[in-house]
Amino acid sequence: MRGDVPVMDADTMSIDLRSTMDIQITALEWMPFEDGYLKYYPDEDRDVYLKQCPDGALEVSPERYRGRVMAEFDYPLSEVYGGDNEILLRSKEFYKNCWVLKLQDPYISLIITILTQNKTADSARRTFYRLQHRYKGIDVHKMASADKHELEELIRTSGPYKADFIIRCSQEIIDRYNGSIEWMRSVPSREAREALLGLYGVGPKTADCVLLFSLGHSVVPVDTHICRVSERTGLSMATGDTEAAKRKVKEDLEQRRRIPGMAHLLIINLGRDFCKAVLPLHHCCPVEGICPKRGTGIRKEKKLTEE
Ligand code: SF4
Repeated sequence: MRGDVPVMDADTMSIDLRSTMDIQITALEWMPFEDGYLKYYPDEDRDVYLKQCPDGALEVSPERYRGRVMAEFDYPLSEVYGGDNEILLRSKEFYKNCWVLKLQDPYISLIITILTQNKTADSARRTFYRLQHRYKGIDVHKMASADKHELEELIRTSGPYKADFIIRCSQEIIDRYNGSIEWMRSVPSREAREALLGLYGVGPKTADCVLLFSLGHSVVPVDTHICRVSERTGLSMATGDTEAAKRKVKEDLEQRRRIPGMAHLLIINLGRDFCKAVLPLHHCCPVEGICPKRGTGIRKEKKLTEE
């Protein structure tokens, strides 16, 4: 997806673990724990702990997992965009220590993304971690035959109704695709997207997340945050976050701007850290000098601060 970008060794590079873990579906296999993150590795039936030390170094426990964990860091966001849009160029410089994680198993990606629907990433992380422990690593066969009432309990905080989504889409993957959606990696994005949208519980954003974070298709998942930041920065002319606006933003980013799918992580970072819905932090935003909406809402921010 990145063309001829050289392979990076995460162990010798600076990594901002917080932003890396905050912005991508792949990172939701890691659950916040104490001042770091926990991930369950089913092949050894154990948790691995990862944290960033005050000097910036990453600590992995047990240490023998270090190589395996560091191999999950693929490349920094400074490598993600090669175009000439100044908003994206400044953002990638600012977020150069935020890393894109390696593509994950597409079935895992599908289940995690379903868990995020209408819920926070934090809730999805905790629920996924619980599922991993309960089933000693989920897979399509275990979930297709899962007890629905038990599953509803396990995923209650992420929406018990999603037990139906998980069980039925797993059964469909077995019936239609012999238990694997790996084949979607090697077909055109549109064909893979249509097949994903045909699975129970899968909508446009879920399909795009699976395509991007596990199957290697360069598509842009669009949500309300991407809409807001794209509109304010002029990356898209769409307004609002209706379904029609989301389609327009997607078209603008993918076809008009031709940004690689992973470059949308720059937009997510901007929205999360600075371009907030109610009180945008223009004064410390890395694109403040060139953003067409800089300053908008400052009066409101000041007024609210004074109250
Ligand atoms: S300058 Fe303001 S409006 Fe523009 S991206 Fe930054 S926070 Fe958002």
